[in-house]
Amino acid sequence: MPSIPDKGSAQDARYHRGMSTSSTNADPQELAKFSELAHKWWDPESEFRPLHQINPLRLEWIDQRAGVAGKRALDVGCGGGILADAMARRGAKVLGIDLASKPLKVAMLHALEAQTPNVEYREVATEALAAEQPGSFDIVTCMEMLEHVPDPSAIVRACATLARPGGWVFFSTLNRNPKSFLFAIVGAEYVLRLLPRGTHEYAKFIRPSELAHWAREAGLELADTSGLEYNPLTRRYWLSGDTSVNYMIGCRKPA
Ligand code: SAH
Repeated sequence: MPSIPDKGSAQDARYHRGMSTSSTNADPQELAKFSELAHKWWDPESEFRPLHQINPLRLEWIDQRAGVAGKRALDVGCGGGILADAMARRGAKVLGIDLASKPLKVAMLHALEAQTPNVEYREVATEALAAEQPGSFDIVTCMEMLEHVPDPSAIVRACATLARPGGWVFFSTLNRNPKSFLFAIVGAEYVLRLLPRGTHEYAKFIRPSELAHWAREAGLELADTSGLEYNPLTRRYWLSGDTSVNYMIGCRKPA
């Protein structure tokens, strides 16, 4: 069973990891983890079951705020494309980006097989795309990804740069507190085995206040927050005001 790290270790962990050994804001071990499982990405009973289950909820939440149809959307850390594909099916023109090659190949293959219109995938760093195409997207989504990168605040900044003035930026991640440790790591990885052990590292979880701070620093305005709750008995997720474990925020870039 994992032990709960000391308070404050998130910052230390972030500063001591990754960044000095590579110029890319990515953790190669994290990318390898997602690549290894990539072939199962579209199996709704696999390790990706939680992403399949939360997808209709988050898609609805995003669509209600930003109106997906006809918009140009970017999905950052898209993996096998569960959200990117769903936004394209709702009528958006979608670009999905990730730094793990296998999930991207799975995403492309799925789009071909399912004949999803208007979705493209590219292996490119968020910061590099931000330098290449600033202010280009009506909607930027970055879901369940910030807790896997060495410097999440830099991703938040890049997402803000990529959005057009007046555009929307959505993030989702895991909160950092004893309850999220118990639910997202002990519960999900050890007791219920919804996720492989080692999927998440507690120190990299992000409090809503931290995420909101990074968003504001990046020039975004916080518009809305929602919690995503899970009942292990019914195996169902739903949106709620409880942000103590999994949560989303929606931000606007001032017009
Ligand atoms: N956003 C998708 C997938 C979440 S899994 C969804 O919610 O359905 C996390 C994804 O983040 C993986 O595909 C992983 O490869 C990707 N990732 C991790 N670090 C990254 C980085 N620095 N840049 C881009 N993608 C990254």
